[in-house]
Amino acid sequence: MTGELFVVATPIGNLGDISLRALEVLSSVDAILAEDTRHSRRLLDHHGITTPLWSLHEHNEKAKTASLIDDLSSGKKLALISDAGTPLISDPGFCLVREARDAGIAVMPLPGPCAFVAALSVAGLASDAFSFFGFLPPKQQARINALKRLADRTETLIFYEAPHRVLATLADMQTVFGDDRLAVMARELSKSYETVKKASLLDLVTWVESDPNQQKGEIVLLIEGKRQQTDADFSQALSLYDKLKADLPMKRAVKLASEVTGVSKNQLYQMVISAK
Ligand code: SAM
Repeated sequence: MTGELFVVATPIGNLGDISLRALEVLSSVDAILAEDTRHSRRLLDHHGITTPLWSLHEHNEKAKTASLIDDLSSGKKLALISDAGTPLISDPGFCLVREARDAGIAVMPLPGPCAFVAALSVAGLASDAFSFFGFLPPKQQARINALKRLADRTETLIFYEAPHRVLATLADMQTVFGDDRLAVMARELSKSYETVKKASLLDLVTWVESDPNQQKGEIVLLIEGKRQQTDADFSQALSLYDKLKADLPMKRAVKLASEVTGVSKNQLYQMVISAK
């Protein structure tokens, strides 16, 4: 007799954003594992669900996993939820899910809300390739180092950020990715003050700085990937270089042409050398 572990997505704001199947499962399992039982009780009360809530959060997950695996092995059906959205996405549950799966227990997802997927779906940034990084380091130097490692990535980059750090993080993104890189700030999705703003990093920093309301609530940041350089970009850079070299030394002309057109300085230099 083996139990089942259901991993259930819950709303990220609007309590109506929960699937009919999620409500059925949450009503019928033996217990619901929740990060903050008082917070989740409000959701369950709203939907008339009286299933017992057990606490499972980042500080007790390791200690509790073995006894939960025993419960599941003896036939209990459990549901895992987090405070908002999909469990394990910047939320606890990884240890339990891994151990349950290794023990041969059925682990089933109940798909639903996830803040970064919701944000990506309305951002108007490329969604065919993207990477999600969760929260950046809170200390500035570590954050800048992490961003520098991502500066040349061409897919859309997605982050969660706390409201009291959003301005500092956007300013660091501007420093590392440049003024012109497009970004989207998706705030309070599915709630009363839902705001989705798409702008260059320069304009986004100015906007957030000038409006303290934008530094409140729950926030997803999305950054356009570095633009891939096309043949047209290189021919534009070469023709600018040709004009500049009349008055400037070669290296200076290459540097300026690369800055103006955004193409790689080294690649442009190689093209100039091989064209000689
Ligand atoms: N598991 C959740 C999910 O599926 O998205 C995320 C949990 S993570 C601890 C919480 C972070 O998600 C918040 O700090 C914020 O960055 C983002 N978030 C959660 N709800 C949001 C919302 N309604 N609007 C924008 N971002 C949200």
